[in-house]
Parts: sequence; C-alpha cells; structure tokens
Amino acid sequence: MIIKKRKKKRKSNIKQSKKLNDKPAISLISLPLTDRVLHDSKEKNVSPAVSYREESKRILKLIVYINEFDRLDEEGKQICRNNNCENFVCKPFRKYCSRKCSAEFTRWYNKNFYWRNIRNSILKRDNYTCQICGLKLNKKKRHNKKIENWLECDHIIPKSYYTFLGYSFDTLENKVKTVLEFLHNDKNLRTLCYKCHKGVTLNNFKAKALLININDDN
Ligand SMILES: [Zn+2]
Ligand SMILES: [Zn+2]
Repeated sequence: MIIKKRKKKRKSNIKQSKKLNDKPAISLISLPLTDRVLHDSKEKNVSPAVSYREESKRILKLIVYINEFDRLDEEGKQICRNNNCENFVCKPFRKYCSRKCSAEFTRWYNKNFYWRNIRNSILKRDNYTCQICGLKLNKKKRHNKKIENWLECDHIIPKSYYTFLGYSFDTLENKVKTVLEFLHNDKNLRTLCYKCHKGVTLNNFKAKALLININDDN
C-alpha cells in the first residue's frame, strides 16, 4: 500500500539514523520476548514472572513517534512527511510541503497513533459499557466515579503477544504494521470496567508465566 511505495526511501533513512546513533533502542526488542524474559530473569536472579512484568512495562513505551516519519532524499534534503507525497518540505511548514499535506498527515497520525483517541473511540463504540459485566457509565461522569468504576480499554489478545503473532518493531514499516494491525486494531480492543480489566489481566499474566515456564523446561 502507501507504506510499500516508500520502502526504498525508508531504508536509506534508517541507515542514516543508525549512523548518527550507534545504539538504536530498537535492538532491545529484536530478540523474541521469551528469550529476553529468560535472559533477564537469569541475569537478575529473579523468577521469569517478575521479569515478564518488567518486560511488559517496556512494551508500553513502544509507540511510533511522529518524527519517525521524517524522510530525507539521497542528498539529505527533507521530503514531506505525508505518506503519498514526494515533494520537498516548504519552509513555512518545515515538515510538510503544504498546509494540505500537514493537515492530511496529522489527521491520519492522530487517529491511528494516539492511544487516547483510540481508547475514546472504543469506549464510544461500546456505548460506555463493560463488555464482560455490563456496567454502564455516563460518558461525562467517567472520571468522577471511584477508580473501581472506571472504564478502560482492553486488548483482547494482550499487547505483549506481538512477537508470537509475528509482529515486530525493528523497522518503521513493521512498527506501523504492528500498531495498525494489532495494538490499535479496533477488533482487538474492547471496553472493560476496572474490576473486569484487572481480572482479565491477571489471568493473561498467569497464562503467560505458564508459557514461559514450559519453554524453560525445554
Ligand atoms: Zn506533501
Ligand atoms: Zn466489568
């Protein structure tokens, strides 16, 4: 699609960024999750479950920043951020060639990459109702209630399973793919109340710890 078109340009961009910064944060996540958790737990002499908890905290930070879409041509001139535009940037807009591209790209980015926007659209879709126990809240009172009554947005397939599903965060294309197809895919998201969310997360955590232990035995 749009992303494929820019494949060649992106690759040269990534090479350049590697030159500038020899220690890309991305290398941290190139190892399969299970390997990393096992490695961490051995190193720190703690159970895989504790390491897994730390690992999942790190995954929460893996979002795609808007400046990662910046592109340069072979001579280092900056190209418009907008996916399907190959114009050079225009001074008054700096990151874009025109006001139109700026608006178009920003709208696309905000809609797909800002968790708050995604979460709000899911809550609205589910009519502010917990999909397990049916607790319903008035959207305007969402934050006035006790924490036990808050509505949250849950990943049906937990976020940390992305490596098991073949997704990765190694290149910008893969990051975008992982976010759009998995992390922010509305089919994988649902509204849960605080209590149900806690229960579901705990069960997922147990299942994951079990999976890690099975791998450890082998
Ligand atoms: Zn443009
Ligand atoms: Zn509930």
